[in-house]
Amino acid sequence: MLRGKTAVVTGSTSGIGLGIARALGGAGANVVFNGFGDPAEIEALRAGVAKDFGVKVSYSAADMSKPDQIHQMLKAAEEELGAVDILVNNAGIQHTAPVESFPRDRWDAVIAINLSSAFHATQAVLPGMRRRNWGRIVNIASTHGLIASVEKSAYVAAKHGVLGLTKTVALETARTGITCNAICPGWVLTPLVQKQIDARAAREAIPLEQAKRDLLAEKQPSGEFATPEQIGALCVFLCSESAAQIRGAALPVDGGWLAQ
Ligand code: NAD
Repeated sequence: MLRGKTAVVTGSTSGIGLGIARALGGAGANVVFNGFGDPAEIEALRAGVAKDFGVKVSYSAADMSKPDQIHQMLKAAEEELGAVDILVNNAGIQHTAPVESFPRDRWDAVIAINLSSAFHATQAVLPGMRRRNWGRIVNIASTHGLIASVEKSAYVAAKHGVLGLTKTVALETARTGITCNAICPGWVLTPLVQKQIDARAAREAIPLEQAKRDLLAEKQPSGEFATPEQIGALCVFLCSESAAQIRGAALPVDGGWLAQ
């Protein structure tokens, strides 16, 4: 379905981004991986997707907190693979602390990586998408783009901002073949969430399995994690022609979290 298209997925060396990159590769798109990690493991991921799906796969180590590196990554992707047709703004970090003691450098880092990177990357790819009159921008927001939780001021502010950016870009491209939407996952068991489970187990002196169950019970009525594969599948759908009139939407994959 996406054969001949090129997708850049930020933060795709782990978790949700990896699930999205594999799903887009599986649908035939060439893929640019991005994110941090062990070079040998990243090369294995890159080569695995290329071999499994017969698509071109490259990797950029660009730091999403650095606007120059973001622009450079997307310019290189256009030069190497011909175009960036699909941009998935997924890279993200978390830091939890009450507002009064929230470290200023963590606030800046969360806003830069979770919000500003999506602005810089969108700015870099839109001219090419407009020339070709086709494009898909998918922003990975969160349930925290629509509601809040305690001790997540930077994350909640960034994700609310991502939804604002999504709607604005959707309006500015409304009469073109470019769409911009957001996916709002609930809990997905990735390293980002595992850290919160570990912290909860330590804080409450309970076993990890109980901390995991409690974390789900508190927010997610299904009692089950959403998966990177499910989010990848929704992303592929948003890239299809069937989704051409879905614009500026915030689509939850949250086990009922936002229905409460
Ligand atoms: P993760 O920690 O598994 O993956 C994060 C990815 O981002 C990694 O590839 C990491 O290397 C990359 N990254 C971090 N800082 C970067 C930087 N400065 N430059 C480039 N890459 C960087 O986390 P995840 O849970 O897969 O999260 C992915 C996205 O999904 C984030 O935006 C997160 O906010 C969002 N999200 C996650 C959940 C969840 O429950 N896991 C829920 C809602 C939204």
